[in-house]
Amino acid sequence: MKNFSLFLVLISVIIISPVLAFSNTHTKIRKVVVIVVMEQEAQPIVEKFSLRKIKSAFAAAIPVKAYKGKIDQLRIFLIVNGKDKRYGVDNVATQPATITTLLAIEKFKPDLIINAGTAGGLGANGAQIGDVYVSSKSFKFHDRRIPIPGYAEYGIGSYPAWDASKMAKNLGLKTGIVSTGNSLDMTKMDEKIIKSNNATIKDMEAAAIAWVAQLFDVPVMSLKSVTDLVDSNKPTQEEFLKNLSLATKNLQLKLAEVLKYCSGKSVNELSN
Ligand code: SAH
Repeated sequence: MKNFSLFLVLISVIIISPVLAFSNTHTKIRKVVVIVVMEQEAQPIVEKFSLRKIKSAFAAAIPVKAYKGKIDQLRIFLIVNGKDKRYGVDNVATQPATITTLLAIEKFKPDLIINAGTAGGLGANGAQIGDVYVSSKSFKFHDRRIPIPGYAEYGIGSYPAWDASKMAKNLGLKTGIVSTGNSLDMTKMDEKIIKSNNATIKDMEAAAIAWVAQLFDVPVMSLKSVTDLVDSNKPTQEEFLKNLSLATKNLQLKLAEVLKYCSGKSVNELSN
């Protein structure tokens, strides 16, 4: 009898644990954290949704800014990485992104995280300047090369991207794998790994954000607007600056569509 009860407990744990991993996937999304790195990417979003700044959201030493607002039935928290205190530029790349994500999860307890921003695209995989991509499958790194058993895979990461393929299809958005690294340019080795990652999108934060999200089992996706094609022979920084305003405009339009689409739905309803 005792063994039988133990057996029942075990079976329930096996059945329930995958459900618990993402506990709210079948209930309506209530809170969305949108993580944006650059001020210039965030400003059109703040204006479009009339978001209000949250005063003293984080410790004074933390440059991260937070805004809040409502879109239909959703509570939105926009988190912006802020400026580097020493260099006065936006806190791009992976280490600020991990801090920002951790703080945002702890403070706002989101049902969904969206990393919205600009990115490089691989023309060979169909990306064009101004396209807005939804992440698919997983987030990977291309600049963490650790050729030791176990660590090689750890380096690549492959953290799950929430399957939002149904949403992407209904909104006419392209989907692709995002590969993250700490440089805007692309070395030959980075290029090789980006290709073996089957990535269409190259950025500097998404995989770092996804690493934190998976620690807390929070569904995460990215929405990335293409500023430059990394496999063209034009210099990335020139392309980036030339196309930044077009890309941020498209990003803000598509983010609005995504958030409206998410309102009243569960994260499961975004998937195929
Ligand atoms: N703030 C600087 C440059 C930003 S670095 C400026 O205005 O000049 C680039 C930012 O855009 C990062 O947050 C990164 O995620 C994204 N990005 C755009 N194009 C990229 C590319 N080709 N490779 C990597 N990241 C890119």
